[in-house]
Amino acid sequence: MSSPSGVKIMVYHWIDRDPGQRLREWGLTPEAFEAQMMALAEGGYQVLPLIDVLQIVRGRRPAPPKSVALTFDDGYLSLMDHALPVLKRLGFPATFFLVSDRVGATNTWDARHGDRPRSLMGWSEAAELAAQGMEIGSHSRTHPVLTGLSEAEMENEIRGSKETIEDRLGRPVRHFSYPHGVDDARCQRLVAEAGYAGACSTLSGGNGPGANPYRLHRSEISYYDTAWSFSFKARTGFGMRSWARSAAGDLLRRLVPTPRGVAS
Ligand SMILES: [Zn+2]
Repeated sequence: MSSPSGVKIMVYHWIDRDPGQRLREWGLTPEAFEAQMMALAEGGYQVLPLIDVLQIVRGRRPAPPKSVALTFDDGYLSLMDHALPVLKRLGFPATFFLVSDRVGATNTWDARHGDRPRSLMGWSEAAELAAQGMEIGSHSRTHPVLTGLSEAEMENEIRGSKETIEDRLGRPVRHFSYPHGVDDARCQRLVAEAGYAGACSTLSGGNGPGANPYRLHRSEISYYDTAWSFSFKARTGFGMRSWARSAAGDLLRRLVPTPRGVAS
């Protein structure tokens, strides 16, 4: 169920002077990212670590009225120059999800789109992030669409990546991010069985008490976001399009009662 209440989790990919062509939507310039972080600070938002979001979802503490969490998928090297200094200056925690078999390599899973490959951080950069108080999570071993894999392959991606990152960094890995934002009940079960405390999808909306900890909702921040649309995402967890779909759905559900025996 999507809800605009609860903590909003933002997801970023690369922050780079060259945001790319075909995949430009997933990149931000350093200036745009800094402006967004300043907007959160000046807007009185509390930026929470993911572990606190899990506490809120599990009903163990209340959600602050204006709160967000920050996540970065894939582990791009450019984040060391363009995200870490801003986060440190503002005292914002964040979670960086690494693709464990691609650490120090490039985003090979995006090669078919034709943009230049982007460098991913190495283990020394990941260790530096952890030493600076940032959290390192897992984004699988090779960034596949998990739902297309056998259960053994899926487990290898989910559990194997956790073990590798923990071995390399000497710290527990508590959170998972589904590659391509795609998951199903099997993925969620294997993530829980591997010992993760929670997992992030890319479904829109907030994360309040009672939300599924293995399907946390996130707002994807895009190159095309404006100051206004970013502030809307921080407040609601939705982009305008997903908000319209959700609002229209709510209105329809109120106007047209669900027939008996049909799940809504
Ligand atoms: Zn990814």
